[in-house]
Amino acid sequence: MRQIFLLLFSIFSFAQQTQKVDFKTAYGNISINAVEKKVYGSVKYIFELKEALDTIKIDAQRMTFTDVKINNEEVNFINSGKTLNLFEGFKKGKNTLVFSYEAFPKQTMYFNTQINNLQIWTQGQGKYTSHWFPSFDDVNEKVVFNMNITFDKEYNVLSNGILKEVYKFNDKKIWKYEMQKPMSSYLLAIAIGDFRNKVLASKSGIPLQLFIQPKDTAKFEPTYKYSKEIFDFLEKEIGVKYPWKIYKQIPVEDFLYAGMENTSATIFSEDFVVDDIGFNDRNYVNVNAHELAHQWFGDLVTAKSGKHHWLQEGFATYYALLAERQVFGDDYFYHQLYRSSLQIRNASKTDTIPMMNEKASSLSFYQKGAWALHYIRETIGPKLFQKAVQNYLKKYQFKNVETEDFLDEIKKVASIFDTEIFKKTWLEDYQFPIEISNALLKKNQFLQTLFETQQLRDNSFAENNENYKAILNSTAFYPVKTEIIYQLKDVKFEEKKELIELAMQTNDLKVRQAIAEFTDEIPIEFKSNYETLLDDASYETKEIAFMNLWKNFPESRNEYLLKAQNWIGGNDKSLRILFLTFSVLSSNVESQDKTNYYNELVEYTSSKYETSVRENAILNAFTINDKDIIVLRNLVTTTTHYKWQFSKFGREKIRELLKFEVHRSLFQNMLPTLSENEKYQLQKLLIEK
Ligand SMILES: [Zn+2]
Repeated sequence: MRQIFLLLFSIFSFAQQTQKVDFKTAYGNISINAVEKKVYGSVKYIFELKEALDTIKIDAQRMTFTDVKINNEEVNFINSGKTLNLFEGFKKGKNTLVFSYEAFPKQTMYFNTQINNLQIWTQGQGKYTSHWFPSFDDVNEKVVFNMNITFDKEYNVLSNGILKEVYKFNDKKIWKYEMQKPMSSYLLAIAIGDFRNKVLASKSGIPLQLFIQPKDTAKFEPTYKYSKEIFDFLEKEIGVKYPWKIYKQIPVEDFLYAGMENTSATIFSEDFVVDDIGFNDRNYVNVNAHELAHQWFGDLVTAKSGKHHWLQEGFATYYALLAERQVFGDDYFYHQLYRSSLQIRNASKTDTIPMMNEKASSLSFYQKGAWALHYIRETIGPKLFQKAVQNYLKKYQFKNVETEDFLDEIKKVASIFDTEIFKKTWLEDYQFPIEISNALLKKNQFLQTLFETQQLRDNSFAENNENYKAILNSTAFYPVKTEIIYQLKDVKFEEKKELIELAMQTNDLKVRQAIAEFTDEIPIEFKSNYETLLDDASYETKEIAFMNLWKNFPESRNEYLLKAQNWIGGNDKSLRILFLTFSVLSSNVESQDKTNYYNELVEYTSSKYETSVRENAILNAFTINDKDIIVLRNLVTTTTHYKWQFSKFGREKIRELLKFEVHRSLFQNMLPTLSENEKYQLQKLLIEK
């Protein structure tokens, strides 16, 4: 999984059931009712009893069961509300269990009804698949899952593995998916929506099935740019054939994370569905490679417990970085390593939990994990590193692993590499080995130049002028140049004029964006040059420049509005929302137009839109009028959203407003119009303190 936000990772496993019983194959026949938000169906499990056992448990949260049979005989069972407990009818050796069930999943399966565009999808890591399908919260139980899913015929239904058949059944369709190999239950997934797709083939012949919503077909190319290259690269770099028969990638709206590596069916956030301009601001390349790397590290070999979680996230992060190195080059690669080293060093000032601990931070599991692997690879060389990884993957394929299993394979190919010291330094010490990492970073010439340029901060402008000029004229990677722009921040424009013009002429988006950002006051002589930033191929640059110009040149506001009138921006509609806000606040816009613009802005605060649009629109609408009853009503609906980052935003905003008596009574008066859940959330906020 690639997380945007930190998440505490924990794995709960009950008393080693896997040692005595082995669940082999699951056949699920399920229907999903989107109106009732209900899942129901029948399940067949084939399992082998290896040792006598009183009770066999299947995780099942708040479900009901009927027709429970083992080996064709109806059996008694106990439903604890968390597990289905079986205690009779099974024997040593092979057994068949069948049952019917119903579930109202409160989490793990999400029903997204925004934009009149239904999407249903699951997220099984950090949550439990047992909320919608009776399965195993213990990652050590690996099962071959085969799912038949019934749903309305207008939609696509996607799940793990090969689609064997789709057939019509009244106004519905039944989608039959088949897997060949076992996996942990948290990797079981369903995604339902209106999707188109395109199939590419990897060099090795694996079908790469790339999905997109019909409204986004124009964004297909930039969204999936480099997908095939990344796949071919990782298969070669890892040195083990992709372990599954097909690879699907599905973007969904208001996803909880950046992406999730469900076996053979990655689900990722609509935030990464971008056009050519959006690609420059935020692209899918890293997440694409990260989730793909998990198909080996996580899905093929799975960490036995949270303590060894770095075996998944560290590997996925590192191989994603290697794939990006292939796409964006060495300087990019080293710059990312450098940036993550700064983050880890900074965090280790307050975070003293080492990486080999289930409570370690995401930064440790992901970035420090990647650094630890970089250290091994640089020390023993890429060939031996690959050999060890190959042996490790082959030895433990479709099984579970712990840190020692990997280190043993390193030891076998490179006996001089001291895995004990490695473990102490990288995995068991919370501190980041600065000297070792700095030595590795200095292998890259660009980073050396960056470090030298950072040293210039201590000199006077006059001393640096020539140096600056030389660097800006060079082909150096952009961070060296943005460092200069940063250093020039407080220098008088007269003095830095030539350098800024030089930097503008680099036509490097990042360098120009730094100028947009670090120029608060725009001198009149720089105005027309600065205005060219409005045409840059970056929504972020356009937004910064638009705001800055608006502030600096009130007399030109009409021109800017004219320029921005057809802009939309990325998925969050940042430029459209800014245009609407400025238009309403402007003294020169006709009042009828203002009304229309304001109404459009208010519309974006409603639950028809993605959370990124709503958040933006709510904040902007409040700068115009924070007592608009429609916006306040839409703000209350945020508190019941499944996306916790968004409901948190809503609650915090309401708390701020509740400090004012006028808002308090506006919210009070709203209570009778709210749904039960919204009423509950708002009342909780009203009685705080
Ligand atoms: Zn991950």
